[in-house]
Amino acid sequence: MRKLLAMSLVLIFVVFAGCAARTPGQGSLPIVPLAEDNPPKHERYYLNSPPLLEEPEQPPASSGEVQMVRSPLQEGEKIVALTFDDGPHQHTSRILDVLEEHGGAATFFVLGYRVENHRSTMERAVRLGNEIAGHSWNHQDFSLLTEDEIAWQIKSASEAIAPFVGSSPRIYRPPYGRTNELVRQVSQRMGYAIINWTLDPRDWENRDADHIYDHIMSTIQNGDIIVMHDIYATTAQAMERVIPRLIEEGYRLVTVSELIAYLYGEIEPGVVYGRDYDVPMV
Ligand code: ZN
Repeated sequence: MRKLLAMSLVLIFVVFAGCAARTPGQGSLPIVPLAEDNPPKHERYYLNSPPLLEEPEQPPASSGEVQMVRSPLQEGEKIVALTFDDGPHQHTSRILDVLEEHGGAATFFVLGYRVENHRSTMERAVRLGNEIAGHSWNHQDFSLLTEDEIAWQIKSASEAIAPFVGSSPRIYRPPYGRTNELVRQVSQRMGYAIINWTLDPRDWENRDADHIYDHIMSTIQNGDIIVMHDIYATTAQAMERVIPRLIEEGYRLVTVSELIAYLYGEIEPGVVYGRDYDVPMV
């Protein structure tokens, strides 16, 4: 019965993805080429930020298993993928509270080295239907790494996540969103798609909940992938207003993998979804 249900859902996605591909417009594709005058500025904070203080957590009773419930979009229903980088962190729980209260899912791109100290947060995120994927082991700029180092960063983060999600993720987000030809080749060989973003409220820079809310609500479009960071109290605070407002405006809050499934069908390894912050190889 579960098998039959899963097959039906796959079929629904295939049909929907076909429709979406033929009808550009409001549900237009979220891949946006990087403009010359739009250099990668994401997460510049990371260079100078002091270490964040936090409490270690108790280990979970058992590892979680993702139970995704997906259904076809209703007429006029829009989708958005909220994504949070650099956690897990103590503020992640506050974001999970809001998602649980209002009924939405998000994707958390976590740093592998942080997972062990936040096992119960990881378990809860998965139990609530959120997606967890890697953001490297320790936030290195992939465009500066060798082939082996890139592969190690991707693999180590995935291995830290796998016990919580039941399998290795098929997607990841490189630190700063930076890629180059080598990063894309390694990703393709290892079977990973690269997920960047289409909307950046620059929460790391402004650290202001009102600014984050205003930026998102004034620029959002159907099919957007929003990049934020669950390591800031101001981002968690903003989500307390952003999430219910998006739902009020007819958005369904889906994971990135769900968003890609709705818009494209299959996730393709080596492909960059969202803006490509390509750094030429030297
Ligand atoms: Zn990051």
